[in-house]
Amino acid sequence: MTPRIEVIGSLNLDLVSTTARVPQGGETIITQSFSTGCGGKGANQAVACARLSRSQHDISSGSVIVSMAGAVGDDSFGGDLLKGLRDNGVDAASVLVRKGEKSGVAVIIVEEHSGENRILMSPGANFSLKPADFTDLPAPLPDIIILQLEIPLDTTLQILKTAQQKKIEVLLNPAPAQKLPNEAYLAITHLVVNESEASIVTGNEARDIDWTSNTAQHKTLLDLGARHVIITLGARGVCYLSKGKPIRTFAAQKVNVKDTTAAGDTFVGAYAVAIMLNRDRSETAMAKAIDWANQAAAKTVERPGAQSAIPWANELPPSNA
Ligand code: ADP
Repeated sequence: MTPRIEVIGSLNLDLVSTTARVPQGGETIITQSFSTGCGGKGANQAVACARLSRSQHDISSGSVIVSMAGAVGDDSFGGDLLKGLRDNGVDAASVLVRKGEKSGVAVIIVEEHSGENRILMSPGANFSLKPADFTDLPAPLPDIIILQLEIPLDTTLQILKTAQQKKIEVLLNPAPAQKLPNEAYLAITHLVVNESEASIVTGNEARDIDWTSNTAQHKTLLDLGARHVIITLGARGVCYLSKGKPIRTFAAQKVNVKDTTAAGDTFVGAYAVAIMLNRDRSETAMAKAIDWANQAAAKTVERPGAQSAIPWANELPPSNA
């Protein structure tokens, strides 16, 4: 049976302006450039799963079936977001189109000389997802559910409860980071966090934690309850924690860095695909999955853009090589 991944989360249309400097109150500035793109952590991770489980030369079938559940408005952005999923091989049939609502939008101002982003996020239809929408899940059930935190928290907590009742594996990428109630972590099989998210979920917001060696912090993270904890460390790679086992670290690939947007989302998608294609959860199998996700994320970093930078399966060696 072909494994099924379901991503439940956000879809946003990104409106990106690059400017020489940020305007002051009451001021209008002509931008250097403007572009639009499909985004939202949920959609990015669904696209990453789909691209990393199929060839760009035939998106109609892949080694994993990838579907997304979420909500857009009945505006033109909503149509663009649905098309963006389908064009990458994601089944978008469970994305609701909410009448009279606006689709989620991220207005992104990039200051050219510093590369610094300023983002105004309007969740729109993403926030119309209610706990009642997820007290059950339609058949066929997915083998894994991937979640982030860009939809209402009470809805995410309900999805966790339903997944636990139905014994479905869950991967949570807690972004934007916030602490969850303790019992929520018991429903999470795989917790994938970057360094700042790791600090926030453990309640230790010191900026200088060395996540490769701080065993006290590793214990705090593992004690939350997820079975597999992966900390992504940007240009320093990844570390993997699992109870009773020594920490494993993976150096980042040495690449020519162009744009790190969507690196974390690519990592999540690649890791999910790899663990779906090999259900062995031995240390060796987990290391292979992480190594492959590390390679996939490095490819994204070498290219400009968000979803468009995510590699296809045919651009990487097989995940179980
Ligand atoms: P996020 O995008 O969520 O902040 P990270 O910055 O930790 O996540 O990046 C996720 C993963 O992307 C890293 O663990 C690594 O695999 C890859 N990556 C990120 N930056 C680089 C880089 N400069 N060189 C090589 N790989 C990178």
